[in-house]
Amino acid sequence: MNTLFISDLHLSGERENITTLFIDFLEKRASKADALYILGDLFEVWPGDDIIQPDYRQSITSMKQLTDNGVPLYVMHGNRDFLMADQFSNISGATVIEDPTVIDLYGTATLLMHGDTLCTDDIEYQKFRAMVREPFWKKEFLAKSPEERLAMTASYRNISKEAMAQKSMDIMDVNQNAVEKAMSEHGVKQLIHGHTHRPAVHNFIVNKEDMKRIVLGDWYKQGSVLNCDANGCVLEAL
Ligand code: MN
Repeated sequence: MNTLFISDLHLSGERENITTLFIDFLEKRASKADALYILGDLFEVWPGDDIIQPDYRQSITSMKQLTDNGVPLYVMHGNRDFLMADQFSNISGATVIEDPTVIDLYGTATLLMHGDTLCTDDIEYQKFRAMVREPFWKKEFLAKSPEERLAMTASYRNISKEAMAQKSMDIMDVNQNAVEKAMSEHGVKQLIHGHTHRPAVHNFIVNKEDMKRIVLGDWYKQGSVLNCDANGCVLEAL
């Protein structure tokens, strides 16, 4: 049997073809797997569980079908959809997992992360992240009207787009020291993450040990699926 990993689908009404691709993937591939993990940024925006955008309904229904059919679905928060909470779990059947989480992947301890916390060179982003992940900030944000929240989300998106345009590619990638620190803290030799939209398998050595970092690609440019079984993992292009 096999376990599948995807991330960064950025589902949105503006990219209906990705929604179609996702539903097809759930029905044809995930339905036959041991489990499906979605490592963040499944949705382009998620301003709270009480604002389910009509564009998301089909995807959520398909996720519920998958879990009703007995396939475990694990979803990690990304930087876009970190406000997914209990109501999201109820309607999708998904279990929201912590970032980071360590799993036993067919005998290999594997660290799962979205990946944004590894981009430690992007100090400005890390400051923003720390702010919006504060329980107090979240509480205040969720207390605002849906209109206010949607407007704020859109304005954060614009600020982020402008900032990204001015940052170098290096700054927006993971920091190798942060990668090694996270892996050693969790005692793993394998890490799977998304976020950077740079699908690749990086092999490196730390203290004479072989380490592996697998990066999932996004779904609107590259499209990638990581397929793992007892023999290892294969990063496939969609
Ligand atoms: Mn991300």
